[in-house]
Amino acid sequence: MLVSNENKYVFLSNEIANHPELEQWTPEELFAKESDFDFWDELSEHLDCLRICDACNRPMIEGYCIDDGRELYCSDDCLHSYYSEEEYIEMSDDEEGNSYWTVWWE
Ligand SMILES: [Zn+2]
Repeated sequence: MLVSNENKYVFLSNEIANHPELEQWTPEELFAKESDFDFWDELSEHLDCLRICDACNRPMIEGYCIDDGRELYCSDDCLHSYYSEEEYIEMSDDEEGNSYWTVWWE
């Protein structure tokens, strides 16, 4: 399942609320920080569900794991700025591949 961008920030806001030691943010405030890499980088040390896209540097809670997580991409667009559809199909092959779509928010 693909979460919408809006739901992503609702989810992250709720996750942060489980960490009273962290500063609290509304989904709208988090959305406003979408391209603030340092903010997400710091937060990802506290939240298991949070990763950062290697292409656009935006937060992700699901996405493409390339080479068992060596590279992470949040969307088709970000994936395809590095790999073609054909390359990805080969890399995600059931037998040989080590790349896949995964979710961290469950
Ligand atoms: Zn991305």
